[in-house]
Amino acid sequence: MPVELLIAPPATGKTSFCIERIMTLRRENSLSPVVVVVPDRMQASAFRHRLASAGGALGVKVGRFNDLFGSLLEHSGHQVPLASMPLVHRLIRDGVDGAVANDDIPYLMPLQPFPGFSLVLQDVFAELKRAFISSDRFTQFTQAGTPMQRELARLYSDYQARLETIGWADAGQIPLLAGSLLEENTQAAAWIQLLVVDGFDSLNGSQQHLLKLLSGQTVNLLITFPGARNSPRRAHQRFQAGIEQLIADLKPQMPELPKQTFLPPIAKTIEEHIFDETDVAEKQSAEAPILLEARSPAEEVRETLRWFKKLVVREDIPLPACAIFTPNPETYHPLLRDIAQEFGIPVRFSLDEPLEQSPAISALVNLLALPIQNFRTRQLLNTLRSPYFNIMPKEIPVDTLERISRVARIVEGMEQWDETWDRLENSSELEKQDLADERNAPNLPRGTQAASLRELMDSIFTLLTPPGQVHPQMDWIKWLEDMLEEVRFFEKIESDRDHSAIEAFRDLLRALVLSESVAGSRSLTYEQFFNSLQSLLNGKGYRETGSGYHPALLVGRMQEARGLRFQAVALMGLSEGSFPITERPDPFLDEDLRAALGLEPRLNREQAGLFYQALTRTDEHLLITRPYLTADGEEWEPSVFWKAVENLFEETARTRVKANDDRPLADAASSQELLFGALQRKSLPQQFKFLEERWRHLQHAREILNARKDKEAGSEYEGTLAAAAADLQERYAAGQTWSASGLETYGKCPFFFLVNRALELAEIEPPELGMDARQLGSMLHSILEQTYKETSDPADVESVQASLHLVAEREFSSAPRKYGFRASALWEIEQDHWLEKLEKTVQELTGDSDWTPIAIEARFGLDDKPFLQVKLAGKTIRMRGVIDRVDRNEQGQLRVIDYKTGGTFSKRDLEKGSRLQLPLYALAARDALGLGTPVDGFYWFINAEKSSLKLIKIKTENSSGVDASIDLVKGNMGKFINRIRSSQFPPIKPDGGCPDYCPASLWCWHFERGWRP
Ligand code: SF4
Repeated sequence: MPVELLIAPPATGKTSFCIERIMTLRRENSLSPVVVVVPDRMQASAFRHRLASAGGALGVKVGRFNDLFGSLLEHSGHQVPLASMPLVHRLIRDGVDGAVANDDIPYLMPLQPFPGFSLVLQDVFAELKRAFISSDRFTQFTQAGTPMQRELARLYSDYQARLETIGWADAGQIPLLAGSLLEENTQAAAWIQLLVVDGFDSLNGSQQHLLKLLSGQTVNLLITFPGARNSPRRAHQRFQAGIEQLIADLKPQMPELPKQTFLPPIAKTIEEHIFDETDVAEKQSAEAPILLEARSPAEEVRETLRWFKKLVVREDIPLPACAIFTPNPETYHPLLRDIAQEFGIPVRFSLDEPLEQSPAISALVNLLALPIQNFRTRQLLNTLRSPYFNIMPKEIPVDTLERISRVARIVEGMEQWDETWDRLENSSELEKQDLADERNAPNLPRGTQAASLRELMDSIFTLLTPPGQVHPQMDWIKWLEDMLEEVRFFEKIESDRDHSAIEAFRDLLRALVLSESVAGSRSLTYEQFFNSLQSLLNGKGYRETGSGYHPALLVGRMQEARGLRFQAVALMGLSEGSFPITERPDPFLDEDLRAALGLEPRLNREQAGLFYQALTRTDEHLLITRPYLTADGEEWEPSVFWKAVENLFEETARTRVKANDDRPLADAASSQELLFGALQRKSLPQQFKFLEERWRHLQHAREILNARKDKEAGSEYEGTLAAAAADLQERYAAGQTWSASGLETYGKCPFFFLVNRALELAEIEPPELGMDARQLGSMLHSILEQTYKETSDPADVESVQASLHLVAEREFSSAPRKYGFRASALWEIEQDHWLEKLEKTVQELTGDSDWTPIAIEARFGLDDKPFLQVKLAGKTIRMRGVIDRVDRNEQGQLRVIDYKTGGTFSKRDLEKGSRLQLPLYALAARDALGLGTPVDGFYWFINAEKSSLKLIKIKTENSSGVDASIDLVKGNMGKFINRIRSSQFPPIKPDGGCPDYCPASLWCWHFERGWRP
């Protein structure tokens, strides 16, 4: 039978030749069976479209090789049921589990628990089948191979045997079955009058073999191939092996096309000279840039889509005649999806989105993973907040649970919640008190409130906890469906994207049920069921299906560009390491084995040929783009392919888009871009007045940004709250009781005071193991307080040390419960560390024989104790606080001590006002508590075992010692209170950095990390 092989460069009319041949045959006999084989669905659709435009697609079968093989089998009455993905997955998993149980695959065994392992095996087996390598042949081949290859062969044979036992085939087996059919029955393809194979640039083993068998059976076989025979050009290397193999196998006639090209001038220049730059006598000019560099992939996408929008709007190019090809869908597809939505450009992706990445399915996977992760708190709270589930009653905010988990350090598990409920139902510890910052704790629900929350959480755990032990897969599917009904998952689905994903998910469950009835019941644990489901979700794709046909811009991968034609094409990602893509060897089928088996290599693939094909897909417009900065802000080198095009053209063919480029408003591709452009020009033209409201918001945002850039803080965005002056005046009016720690917070940083004290904001942190600074401070203070209260002689070191050991042991054992933290694995070591530090503290402070403690945790203005009244500019300020310790010497003089867990304090802190407590405590000991006259005071660092900022050493022009420190503090207090009342709260980074617990650190642009315990 006649076989023709048409070899010609791209865009010279190969597909038109095929269509003309079909039309000629149809004119002779309108019912002649014609089959067209193309590489993928996109090309099949494009071919059908061109055929219809030429006047006759009716009755012509256009599809992929597997469609042809399926037709051959069907025509011959060979009906083989095709295994779905879940069934294939199930058979592979059964084989792996059996082999592991029998200790047959020691090398591959560690991969068994990974959900992706069966998907990898599925790909390996499919590739072997595509190359016509049966399990028997692969077993023979690997006899002398590595142990891992022999294990792969064992799994391949096992899988194949299981498939044959149930009488099903997988998609990879179709070519093998078709090959057997064609070998047994030489008339099996005789019904095909014309077989056209178009759009391929390489053929795999099974395709080559089957074409050879078909060539003897069909009436006519016409194959097209790009390039030129025996071409030395690098651009054509990719096609040479395929061409030579076809000629050797089929001995075809080789018709020629007239010397013509349908490429536009730019693409023609590239097609003729790419990778052969020495041919070019002089560089070509380009009317408009065809090489575009943008800072990042995101900006590259923005510029590319803007280019398309301009073509569609101004040059009437239809959207379906536009295409983008990228080398890296993971990077580019999400960006293209988002920015196309902003620009209002409908896009159609050639690649299905992985089901696991759909927002609804991703939320579902997180929910199902909870029991396996022992209900890790962060994930649990995310699930409770998820809009896809109706788990929490509306009246109970998840924030309440988050607050409890944070204070009680619930990291994971029902047990930790149970312990917390036990405490909250019965305990009244940790009520909010006016102590120093590091000892404050938020209020939590207690008593009956805690009991009802416990009931709710118990019901959630019951709902989300799967049954224990092993169960048949069908039972797991039922449990899953019931649970999803219960949380109203399906009712919560709203968007088209989610609906499509859920449809695909339902299909998957149906296929899973079918696979169970075909392959028999399988019992497994919940973890095994979850792994298996996750693996299926990973391997299954979905695409958003709206109602009806909508014209859209095509987004495909570089290798999908061949065989298609468009009016405008953009090729993206032409930077080093992006395209050509960095090749990695196959870990299962190494290069030697691939070569021996005739599989396509994984290294040194001819990507230049792919690029050459992609470049020649345009009939009018071409744009090649790349990012020029890496994620670290370093210059990103262009790829060799970019340079190959750049070398053909003058400098004007390339443009680099910079961040601050002044762009005409008319070039804005979305209302966002238009508004930003108008903002740069400082005016919104009259014709865009309908954007007035958004314009005002943007101006407002610009003011905020400008305020942030100012060296001096002073705007309302930085704590100058003129608008709230009346409220603040009222709140902080005369008669207000001030706390030493509160004013000290203002002294550290006024904005910190505003956020933490005035607005009472607190950072919501994920629970972690161990104590935070506040809990640590509270525990150490409590140990020291109890130690001195319980000792028989506070002036005797041995007595105090003995008391310390007893108290510390008691406090350490109750600390996690009392302070609400989750002890980490280091808790025992931490106890030894802090006991040692406390021993040194009491040794140093008690060994100082002149001084004896007379008051520990002495309160003023609290618990019915008198307030400290401070005279400031003729007005009295009322204060409250807690003095850690007051000592007295034999002369009856006092010293005050404030314990700290860390930090550095100096005289400058007193002068600036970032430290107020100590002098105020000295004043309170004297005036409020009447304990005597203080002559000294210092901060004692428990972690550093030394004191600092001794009040006795303070000197001012008019006084010295404690009195001087009190004068300094009074001066600062007066200033601070006036500023608070006049609404001045600028952010001022404290010396030594910002405190860990400043809530503004989440957004404050002056934040600088400071001391941590
Ligand atoms: S982060 Fe630092 S500068 Fe900003 S408010 Fe907090 S303490 Fe002040």
